[in-house]
Amino acid sequence: MTDGKGRKIEYLRLSVTDKCNLRCRYCMPEEGIRHLEHKDVLSFEELQTLTGILKELGIRKIRLTGGEPLVRKGVVSLVSMLPCDVYMTTNGCRLSEHAKALREAGLLGVNISLDTLDRDTFMKLTGRDELGLVLKGIDAAKEAGLSVKLNCVPIKGVNESEIEALCAFAERISVDIRFIELMPIGCMHELTGIPTDVIIGRLGPVIAEPVGNAPDLTGPAQYYRMNGSESRIGFISPMSHRFCDACNRIRLTADGYLKTCLQYASGVDLRRLLRNGADHTTIRSAIESAIKDKPAAHDFGSDTGSDTRRMVQIGG
Ligand code: SAM
Ligand code: SF4
Repeated sequence: MTDGKGRKIEYLRLSVTDKCNLRCRYCMPEEGIRHLEHKDVLSFEELQTLTGILKELGIRKIRLTGGEPLVRKGVVSLVSMLPCDVYMTTNGCRLSEHAKALREAGLLGVNISLDTLDRDTFMKLTGRDELGLVLKGIDAAKEAGLSVKLNCVPIKGVNESEIEALCAFAERISVDIRFIELMPIGCMHELTGIPTDVIIGRLGPVIAEPVGNAPDLTGPAQYYRMNGSESRIGFISPMSHRFCDACNRIRLTADGYLKTCLQYASGVDLRRLLRNGADHTTIRSAIESAIKDKPAAHDFGSDTGSDTRRMVQIGG
């Protein structure tokens, strides 16, 4: 369906848990968050019902996220229960255990967060000594036949000296890498992101021509081919180049809130409707009306009306 601004909504980011096995400083507050109680998290059957209705309304692609989606028990079977093409964004720590089963369940691809190749930096940034597991997870995902992309959030004084090394790593293992601008969602007050233009300037000789319209490339990233390589470098620039005009996504939080914009709380509580016995038509109309009211654009410079959820509670 289209929203009130004429944008076609086809992509659902589905958070299956607000729990995580890492503590990335830009995502999770240091003191942690108050986790949802088990009873408040949507069951797989509820997810199946809601995603079925969303598919009727035009959703074609679902990306499982979290928290960390692979800490949700049974997530492999959830993949096989969902309609549409299913992808996942993961920190990779548990991929070596699950990659093969996920592929067999129908998962098409994974975006794996990799902000650093340095063990100490990884520990400082995530609070855990798990870089080795993530690297193993990347191998396992490739071996299982999943399509793999790497995601990196460049941060001043943290991983900024590793941008070239991360690109070289992506090239060596023949995958694409995307650099995401740090967003002010919740808890990164003491961190400073690096704008896309600065990274592009630095990577100058590594980057060849733009490949923005390759058929497998959809979504907000602007891609460039790496010189002399099949790998591509993508830039997701919500801060410096707002891409809201082309936004095709909605989000469903683990407790069933359909969120129509990353920044704002606008949307509808589908869990409440579902558990109060609303029928198919009522839920469908509630979704349609929330999508019609999808905000035109984020305004990360201002806090007015911002959602209080942290990134770990939304899923990116
Ligand atoms: N745990 C999984 C992971 O890390 O990939 C999925 C959830 S995580 C919230 C999804 C994505 O959001 C990750 O790529 C992460 O780097 C990104 N992210 C988290 N906080 C962010 C922030 N403040 N600004 C930009 N990206 C952020
Ligand atoms: Fe966890 Fe992903 Fe957030 Fe890191 S970015 S704390 S891995 S949810």
